[in-house]
Amino acid sequence: LGASTANVEVHPIIDSTNSELMRRLQSKAELESGKVIVAEMQQAGRGRRGRVWQSPFGANLYYSYFWRLDDGLQAAMGVSIAVGLAVYDAIKALYQIDVELKWPNDIYINKQKLAGVLVELDGQPQGPCQLVIGIGINLQMPESFSQHIDQAWTDLNQHTQQLYKNELVASLTYYLEKRLLQYSQSGLQEMYEQWNALNAFAGEQIELNTGHRSWRGICEGIDPQGGIRIRQDGEVKSYYGGEVSLRKA
Ligand code: ATP
Repeated sequence: LGASTANVEVHPIIDSTNSELMRRLQSKAELESGKVIVAEMQQAGRGRRGRVWQSPFGANLYYSYFWRLDDGLQAAMGVSIAVGLAVYDAIKALYQIDVELKWPNDIYINKQKLAGVLVELDGQPQGPCQLVIGIGINLQMPESFSQHIDQAWTDLNQHTQQLYKNELVASLTYYLEKRLLQYSQSGLQEMYEQWNALNAFAGEQIELNTGHRSWRGICEGIDPQGGIRIRQDGEVKSYYGGEVSLRKA
């Protein structure tokens, strides 16, 4: 796979691969687009809004990718969508498994969570911005950890004979680079319909929640800007924003 330009750094133990790239960014360390950090275990793996990403030692993948975008924070909104498709591509290429996507940034098989994406940003509304793209993929979750995950989950071990972890790093890096380049050239124009074909909740009654407010309706997929479209009382509205969570209603 053409991940030749990538620079991959492997840590046996780390607090969080995203935190490590964010620290380097804040300390003004030299960072090139395509820099990858992976770890065998995370002591403080993070999900969105302060949630924990369970990261035991073993076969699972804890991966972060650094990328610079020229167009400012507003343009970074759809990146999670492009990243979800890159995870789809990588898993399809290596295992011939079709994963499903949940807006804005989760990866499922049969409605069980296989992987999570956490995109963290640094920059101004205008001008270039920096992105740290964290991806956790369950390859083989130790039985003792499963009880700590408070939603339905799965791992690749339940769906394939061979886990190919190193090849997954290469495949993921290759497809991330490809999807992010596509994103900087044409946004989600060439991607949103493909994302919709993989939408885990297409046509289902869902609830969106910010913690303070919630909306219910039928999930109609995403719009070309990456917002989620919901049909409520015969009217379709799009919702944006990183603080919104989607659940089956
Ligand atoms: P959303 O992203 O839609 O707001 P989410 O619950 O999927 O919702 P994330 O922040 O993406 O939230 O991920 C954290 C959540 O994922 C945890 O609260 C837990 O329910 C679940 N989780 C934690 N670790 C794992 C893991 N290794 N595999 C699968 N699921 C996990």
